[in-house]
Amino acid sequence: MTTSTHEQIKLILQETSCNGCEGMNRKFVCVHIEAIAELPSRFGDFHIVAFSNNQDGKEHVAIIKGEVFGADDVPVRLHSECLTGDVIGSLRCDCRDQLEAALKKIGEMDKGIVLYLRQEGRGIGLTNKIRAYSLQDKGLDTVEANIALGFRDDERDYAVAAHMLHALQVQSIRLMTNNPKKIAQLEQYGVKINERMPHILPPNEHNIFYLETKAAKSGHMIDFHGKEHLPEQSDQPIIEGMDESQVKAMHD
Ligand SMILES: [Zn+2]
Repeated sequence: MTTSTHEQIKLILQETSCNGCEGMNRKFVCVHIEAIAELPSRFGDFHIVAFSNNQDGKEHVAIIKGEVFGADDVPVRLHSECLTGDVIGSLRCDCRDQLEAALKKIGEMDKGIVLYLRQEGRGIGLTNKIRAYSLQDKGLDTVEANIALGFRDDERDYAVAAHMLHALQVQSIRLMTNNPKKIAQLEQYGVKINERMPHILPPNEHNIFYLETKAAKSGHMIDFHGKEHLPEQSDQPIIEGMDESQVKAMHD
């Protein structure tokens, strides 16, 4: 299956055009499309686009459904990599649930993009995330653990993500997020956001416990061993069936 998006991106590859690369000064974010291929998946037929950039040296990708090139109102989900959750199915977080729900939802739409950002462990990397887990096993909370390791609570940055959307010449988006703050962060980098689509997860045996914990009391999730979970995605999960006060508590 070759879509016109595919053809257009191939043209971009030939032109080796960059987004924002004047001078290659690290002060300016420079993002470059490196490769594109079809990606049939259990969630639908996608294309995958690999990017390089001059900021973090990481291999971020866009998972694309349908014709997004030059399009308006493209549904977009930003997902930060979580090896333990996404790949291994760790129950210390709900990253995999959030990723699968996004892919499934966009897979059923006529167009959309999941940006899979390689900012593991809220930007501190895999090894440091496991160090933070270890500190949490000893009783520190997530914020204390990160600070004990010399990091801020959240080291993520969305400048590269914004430039990936620019490189795909996406004109405007509908951002799938439960986090209104994320909109301001992306808009600051020039992304036009026409709508926020709440990212609501279907209940399943792994995330149902969010409903059972005191979501209404605080956004913090305590597991059955009394350990706090690391909210690695910047969105607090909203699960189908939560009442309004529980959802509101997520934003407080
Ligand atoms: Zn995770």
